[in-house]
Amino acid sequence: MEHKAQKVAIVTGGGSGIGLAIAEKFVNNNYLTIIIGRDQQKLDNAKQQLGDLCVPISCDLNNLEAIPPMVKKIIAEHGQIDVLVNNAGINMKKEFTEVTDEDFQKIILTNLTSIFVLSREVVKCMLETGNGSIINISSMASQYGIPKVIAYTASKSAIEGMTRAMAVELSPKGIRVNCIAPGFIATEMSAKALNNDPERKGKAMGRTPMGVLGAPADIGDAAVFLATDGAKYITGVVLPVDGGNSIGF
Ligand code: NDP
Repeated sequence: MEHKAQKVAIVTGGGSGIGLAIAEKFVNNNYLTIIIGRDQQKLDNAKQQLGDLCVPISCDLNNLEAIPPMVKKIIAEHGQIDVLVNNAGINMKKEFTEVTDEDFQKIILTNLTSIFVLSREVVKCMLETGNGSIINISSMASQYGIPKVIAYTASKSAIEGMTRAMAVELSPKGIRVNCIAPGFIATEMSAKALNNDPERKGKAMGRTPMGVLGAPADIGDAAVFLATDGAKYITGVVLPVDGGNSIGF
């Protein structure tokens, strides 16, 4: 396969919510944008919306063994990977003592282990070009304590540590690694977490100085910024995109 000048971005969970908004921003910036998810219908709808520069791949990232061959196929077909946005994630709200071993492991598998495996495989390719940007998506759950999301909090806190560890090891080799910590963003995931829990919604908004939920596109703009040359001296940071939620009183 000949080397293409076309830049290639992978956005996991790019079929919906924040991931779809991130993918849209990369398409608008002329990246060939590969979106990964499990639900074919969601992927088809996203492809319809994003057009020719969007390439959907159906893959359950919990199936770790499927990841290395998928990355090899992407490289065979598109020649390079410039950007990886590790956005796919799941949440689970349960009382601490109700969380089973299986519940806990499942969240860790999707929100942490699969990100490590995909990043490792993509980094092997980025090392060949000596160039790349990886963006992990964390959460306010790792900035302060939120009740009833123990496994989610553990996974997102680990993502921030992993971002720093990856950044120190990979930045000397040309790969920048950063993290975005979204505040409360209007998506299906946050609707589930907030709409049936007015007290939690009130608390979230009460400490958000800008007074509104964020839009998925706000995270997309931050991701494109971190991926491109405007951020070429930025690595290892956790950037809150949160209307001030993380510093709110
Ligand atoms: P959504 O539920 O809308 O999107 C999650 C995406 O991840 C879906 O497209 C889903 O696709 C994909 N996904 C989940 N599991 C897998 C899997 N095993 N394999 C492949 N893809 C998978 O959530 P959001 O857009 O709200 O969240 C996106 C990210 O942002 C998450 O990491 C979340 O933790 C984080 N976040 C969100 C906040 C918010 O307020 N909404 C706040 C802070 C962080 P499919 O169903 O097709 O598999």
